Amino acid sequence: MTPFSELGLKESLVKAIEDLGFETPSEVQEKAIPILLADHIDLVALAQTGTGKTAAFGFPLIQRIDPSSRTTQGLILSPTRELCLQITKEIQAYSKYERGINTVAIYGGASIQDQARQIQRGAQIVVATPGRMKDMINRGMVDISKIDYCILDEADEMLNMGFFEDIKDILSNTPKEKATWLFSATMPKEVAIIAKKFMNSPQEITVGTKNSGATTVQHEYYVAGGRDRYPVLKRLADTNPNIFSVIFCRTKRDTQKVAENLIEDGYNAGALHGDLSQNQRDLVMNAFRKKQIQMLVATDVAARGIDVDDITHVINYQLPDEIETYNHRSGRTGRAGKSGTSMVIITRSEMRKIKAIENKIQKKFIAKPIPTGIEICETQLYHLVNKIKDTEVNADVENYLPAINDILEGIDKDTLVQKIVSVEFGRFFNYYNKAKDLNSNDRDRGERPERGERRDSGDSRDRGASRNYGGDGSTRYFINIGEKDGYDWMSLKDFLRDTVNLGKDDIFKVDVKESFSFFNSEANVEEAILNTFKDLKVDGRFVNVEVSNNPIGGGSSRGGGGFKGRSKGGSGGGGGFRSKERGGYKGGGSSRSDRPSRSSSSDRSDSGRRSSGDGGSRDGGKSFGGSPFSENKKSKRRNGFM
Ligand code: ADP
Ligand code: MG
Repeated sequence: MTPFSELGLKESLVKAIEDLGFETPSEVQEKAIPILLADHIDLVALAQTGTGKTAAFGFPLIQRIDPSSRTTQGLILSPTRELCLQITKEIQAYSKYERGINTVAIYGGASIQDQARQIQRGAQIVVATPGRMKDMINRGMVDISKIDYCILDEADEMLNMGFFEDIKDILSNTPKEKATWLFSATMPKEVAIIAKKFMNSPQEITVGTKNSGATTVQHEYYVAGGRDRYPVLKRLADTNPNIFSVIFCRTKRDTQKVAENLIEDGYNAGALHGDLSQNQRDLVMNAFRKKQIQMLVATDVAARGIDVDDITHVINYQLPDEIETYNHRSGRTGRAGKSGTSMVIITRSEMRKIKAIENKIQKKFIAKPIPTGIEICETQLYHLVNKIKDTEVNADVENYLPAINDILEGIDKDTLVQKIVSVEFGRFFNYYNKAKDLNSNDRDRGERPERGERRDSGDSRDRGASRNYGGDGSTRYFINIGEKDGYDWMSLKDFLRDTVNLGKDDIFKVDVKESFSFFNSEANVEEAILNTFKDLKVDGRFVNVEVSNNPIGGGSSRGGGGFKGRSKGGSGGGGGFRSKERGGYKGGGSSRSDRPSRSSSSDRSDSGRRSSGDGGSRDGGKSFGGSPFSENKKSKRRNGFM
């Protein structure tokens, strides 16, 4: 392998590389840097996420910039604000020994005037998101008519995000003679079109295989009932105590919901999606980078900018609609030479999607069983024991040793160990030791499914005796709104159709009672209906829909109005990542009430966002974080259950 010093870079840049701690060039750097330094050419470079593309174009660009001129000479387009800022920081670090080179980031969500002023002071390199760039061109705030270099970074993601037109517009404002360097993880049609239309017979370099996921990522899937996604997610987390993960959901609402549920259940989780303010997103991302958040629940768009190197797991809570998106998701792990795991929670009816992804990424998935309660218990037990073993003894404890010894006198070592471990492990064991097997093929047991642990409606094999399919293949539902809420059968039908976005004949046999109602749908829209009403609030109140067990429509077993009895009070709205100390089992029949809560903020006192409920975490018997075996302050990452 060629060392950095022999790629043709000038000494000051090699020195900056040394400062960064880069020892040897990555493959894309080794291939791209000499080419870009030698000739004024167009280049298409395909390399996976995390292979060091920024440096591959950053260093040659800096070397080619004329610092004595203040004209904008290089434009880097990047899909998101996050990436934009990151590239800017990197370029600034690369050029730390260069005099007079100025790099400015322009992106949406911040003052355009400030950015215009920075440009005016002279910026040879501009790093921009396409939207803001276009805006500033239109307002005459930036002049790119004399640039020599245009870099399209993460081109596939930019096009994925619908920036094709913007990019076209921006490029039309640049001179023909410029060199265009396109960097992308994959080469979908749209990227090929850009290369063909806007580049001059580009040289192409490919690192690894085209369109394949990074080789260091293992792909796994877990077949579960559609309604078990959440409990399965918890198991995946609990069976990986050191998890540091991004969890992808399809919608902003699911993203927010899953994050809130995780927070309520005591995980260090946070949400990242487009409905959050920029400020909230920044807070969440900062907490994630510092590993105060172990489970970041995100939408695809919001996660575009995530560039955190040691993500251990990507979890597809739901599969994306586009196969290409799966590639982007799994590329968040296995970065910078580390290995990672991409997990998919999938229903039986979605299995064919796995095949399609396998074909696309040219890699095989491993079918994994959902961990059983006992397996998780064992994992956690050994994790706890190892943690005890590795815990640095707190010097102050010594002072109390004589007193402690007095108390513990007469207890032999084995018993003592058992007791210590039980302090932390008992509650955990109690939760999981009788937990159900969630593997979907074992679930055809005909018992009434519990809330939150219901069967997957999409899987015909799962249809047990308890479901009411009305004899005609349709499903009958209970809903907790009725006449007293102002509905009659017609308006309820309209409400259902509009809310779930159904066709005009999808809802039938609507039967409105005083405080609740029943209705039927065809089985094929059942999942849509149940998903829509999973946590839907109308006028501040939960509208709850469940498959009815009672074909006649008595429904009294549902408790009349059937409101969910749980309080939603401030479960860290927005992108909150506080963990709530619940100190025990929640009532109200929520699917999450059956898990012991975990304290998690007690070792994050440095974060300045302790929840007011944290007082409980001092009580060693009640919370893990407050026990003598909670992590020492130095360790930033929380370890799973503890
Ligand atoms: P990409 O754009 O291909 O996804 P990045 O340019 O963001 O990848 O680099 C990923 C990570 O690898 C960054 O943290 C970067 O600092 C680091 N990195 C890049 N090149 C090297 C290198 N030659 N040696 C060590 N680390 C590197
Ligand atoms: Mg990059």
